Amino acid sequence: MRNLLAFPLLLAVAAEPAAAQARPAAGTPTATAAAAPRTREMNDLNWMEFAEWVPARVRTVILTVGTLEPHGVANNGADNTAPVAIARAIADDAGINAFIAPHVPYGITGSMAPYPGAVHIPEAAYRAYMRALLDELARNRFRDIIIINGHGGAQTAVLSEIARDVALEKGVNTLVVNWWSLASDVTLRVFGTDGGHAGINETAFIQAIDSSLVQKSRYTGPGMATANPAPGAWSAVPFPSAITLYKAGSGWPTDFNQVVADRYYREVVTAVRELVAGTIVKWKVAGF
Ligand SMILES: [Zn+2]
Repeated sequence: MRNLLAFPLLLAVAAEPAAAQARPAAGTPTATAAAAPRTREMNDLNWMEFAEWVPARVRTVILTVGTLEPHGVANNGADNTAPVAIARAIADDAGINAFIAPHVPYGITGSMAPYPGAVHIPEAAYRAYMRALLDELARNRFRDIIIINGHGGAQTAVLSEIARDVALEKGVNTLVVNWWSLASDVTLRVFGTDGGHAGINETAFIQAIDSSLVQKSRYTGPGMATANPAPGAWSAVPFPSAITLYKAGSGWPTDFNQVVADRYYREVVTAVRELVAGTIVKWKVAGF
């Protein structure tokens, strides 16, 4: 992904030969004249570079969050793999122009926490930690805070609530994106069915990012899946399957087709890109 990130910067430099000639000699600070930051990753910027870009030329930060929990035959960290890939794919789009905050990999796992390798953070601790983190992103003078979430359940409600509170109390703009829900239309279009947690949709998304993370030889069929209960119908801990279906009777992985997975990835990223860029431009038009 780093090579992909560097590509637009190379293009920008190649397109400006006159400007390049006018630049100061090597060793002289040039960041203030650069068309794009050296990196989009907050982890990899130093404090002087950060000050040169935020808030004057970068007003948006993307924070990715997920959790560690079983995902059928995909990796336990699928909820981390997905939002990180999305953020890296969209951060340097002209209409987004964001820095990427370090990822938060532990979340409110809940009923899948008993599975091997899963980690569950209790809701009160998660809420307090994430609220403190959003406050810090606002204090660092980001105007738009975009949260791309990889994990469902209670975590989605907590994120929406604290994002709303930080927006109202700190005067910043916040957007929470739950990618698999945003992409429900894409899932129907590409697969002809609804998906599920670790279902055909999420498994394909991970396969497109890194096919080695999906162990299809371990897949034994729909017996590995359980449909989500109707609200109030039942609950079980641990949840009886590591693949859960949005609707009974459909949504489990089928043929692990790489071409279809790649198409799904592209269309989902496009949907997230359009939502984020569209929201930022509407905030600006509305004066926020
Ligand atoms: Zn997941």
